[in-house]
Amino acid sequence: MSVYHDEIEIEDMEYDEEEEIYYYPCPCGDRFEITKEDLQNGEDVATCPSCSLIIKVIYDIDDFANEDEEVIPSKRELEKA
Ligand SMILES: [Zn+2]
Repeated sequence: MSVYHDEIEIEDMEYDEEEEIYYYPCPCGDRFEITKEDLQNGEDVATCPSCSLIIKVIYDIDDFANEDEEVIPSKRELEKA
C-alpha cells in the first residue's frame, strides 16, 4: 500500500527557473511542489500546500547532484590573474 497519491516522472513536471521549483497539478486545484535543492538532497516527495496529498517524483539524482560544481571557477583561471 502506497501513501502517495501518484508517482510522477520529473520530465512531466513543470519547472520554474526563477524559483527553482518543480510543479505538478494537484486534483485540489493547487500544485504539488518540490525544489531543485530537495531533489539534489535525494528528497523525492512533492507536497501540495493546500491539501494533504503527496506525490513521489521519479528522477535520476545524478542529473542534479553535480550541477553546482560547474559554477566554481577553475584553478587555471585564478592563476592567470
Ligand atoms: Zn492539493
